[in-house]
Amino acid sequence: MSVVAIANQKGGVGKTTTAINLGAALGILERRVLLVDCDPQGNASRGVGYEGGGPLLYDALVGDCDLLAAIHPTGFAGLDVVPSDHDLVGIEVEFVGLEGWESRLREQLAALEGYDTVLLDCPPSLGHLTINALVAANAVIVPMQCEYFALEGMAGLLNTIERIRGAMNENLQLAGILLTMFDERTRLSRQVRREIELHFPEQVFKTVVPRNIRLAEAPSHGVPALQYDVKSRGAQAYLALASEYLTAAARH
Ligand code: ADP
Ligand code: MG
Repeated sequence: MSVVAIANQKGGVGKTTTAINLGAALGILERRVLLVDCDPQGNASRGVGYEGGGPLLYDALVGDCDLLAAIHPTGFAGLDVVPSDHDLVGIEVEFVGLEGWESRLREQLAALEGYDTVLLDCPPSLGHLTINALVAANAVIVPMQCEYFALEGMAGLLNTIERIRGAMNENLQLAGILLTMFDERTRLSRQVRREIELHFPEQVFKTVVPRNIRLAEAPSHGVPALQYDVKSRGAQAYLALASEYLTAAARH
């Protein structure tokens, strides 16, 4: 089972869109996928149709239930979700000074069976939730928006990944940097892409996610873009990403 954290402490770079649609694409490729919403904003949960009720990630993290009890099916074949809502923000306070807080999610995931891939949609910070995700993960995907300041915060994120690998998770790998919201018509997009590829020649996924309105519309219908409009360029990009990811994962 591979556990993939989708992380970048910048907000609005495409983490949640990637978590939902990579998850759905892997589902189409007949993988069993669990999407764990590690962001109190709950966007990933609502984006796959969760409408409230039942145990949440929060309950599992504080020990009120098993993670297994917090798994909800989505309407999309092969894709289940552990949802969250704003109560999850309490973790950032409750975990302060708590013995072993970093490994709470990892311990919960250890009991999981029957999934090929777990995707962890991280919040836009490097707080307790993101650290829990990075300790539980064996790979990280870093979405980056093709805008100015895309690289801002990258040093901090890479540093955090290094530190976690050294201290408590030697399996943690950077699966890749994913360029999102790419608009080939703008010079800025092309410039930022070149800059990122220059900085990280080996790490950037070949698949680039275009700016595509279908990706932005789908969440309001509570379905992945792969269900909302599978022919859209956005949906097709995530299918390509899923194939590229599986090919790379098979090599490691
Ligand atoms: P994050 O989880 O990093 O905060 P989101 O995935 O929520 O980022 O994306 C931020 C906003 O941009 C959302 O409204 C989302 O629908 C939209 N969006 C994400 N990716 C794309 C894309 N490739 N094309 C168009 N809109 C996008
Ligand atoms: Mg998000």
